[in-house]
Amino acid sequence: MEEIYVFGHKSPDTDTICSAIAYAKIKNLTPARLGEINEETKFVLEKFCVEIPRPIENVEGKKVVLVDHNEFQQSADGIEKAEIVEVIDHHKIKFSYDKPIKFLTEPLGSTATVIAKYFESDIEKIEVNEKKKIKGLLLSAILSDTVVFKSPTTTEEDKKIANELAKAVGIDALIKFGIDIKKAKGSIRGKTVESIIMADFKEFDFNGKKVGIGQTEIVDINEIYEIKAQISKFLENLKNENYEMTVFVATDIIKEGSELFFAGDKSKIEKAFGIKVVGNFVYIPGLMSRKKQVVPKLQQVF
Ligand code: MG
Ligand code: MG
Ligand code: MG
Repeated sequence: MEEIYVFGHKSPDTDTICSAIAYAKIKNLTPARLGEINEETKFVLEKFCVEIPRPIENVEGKKVVLVDHNEFQQSADGIEKAEIVEVIDHHKIKFSYDKPIKFLTEPLGSTATVIAKYFESDIEKIEVNEKKKIKGLLLSAILSDTVVFKSPTTTEEDKKIANELAKAVGIDALIKFGIDIKKAKGSIRGKTVESIIMADFKEFDFNGKKVGIGQTEIVDINEIYEIKAQISKFLENLKNENYEMTVFVATDIIKEGSELFFAGDKSKIEKAFGIKVVGNFVYIPGLMSRKKQVVPKLQQVF
């Protein structure tokens, strides 16, 4: 039988990797990844003794299932010439295809929640040890993508399903486990500015203009201020190479707010967020989610 690859977006996060592994297990497909996994995901895979999916370069001519993304810009090289058989996601929809396919999305906190919800009976059929691993991955992905339920993308269903999964996996202290996952990314000290910004970086097409938005989640925002000059310089150079605007969102998961850095038209930032900006970064309390609180607002002003 022809191999079908399941993968999430570039700059893979925990939801992208764990959803790909889980769905591949459920449907007997091949999990793959676009790029290196981050330290948080590594922590999760090690915790549940699951192998890192194989990297995939170009998917031209291959059969593929997309999870945790549906925009070609965030997908594999050659995606325009791949045969997409299915999409499972929780992001805004920017997708069209010339054949009827399965397309499953719901505005839930993670793709893992969508998978756990719609494929519950398939998951129950998995062999007992493997099932526990898969449930552990799905739980981790929910906690990661919802920032331990603090992100405004969190729904009651995310919480309910995460609690059920935690019970099945034998994790009592759910919130503590979530914070441990987030802490696994560790300090940004000693890392290059490029690796900090590009580890979770997504490209968007806003009315024909290319905008790049990176995000990192940290437990101590002060670390960011130590490298603020380098961040601004990196964003400026990146913008000049290839973008109309570049943005970097440094989210403090304890304080529940973000420092938003940008290079590009300041008035667009001011208009999008309804704030006055002095310089090229600004703290926005309550800002946790790129998907829900940054992308739609910026898209509107473009
Ligand atoms: Mg993701
Ligand atoms: Mg996700
Ligand atoms: Mg995410």
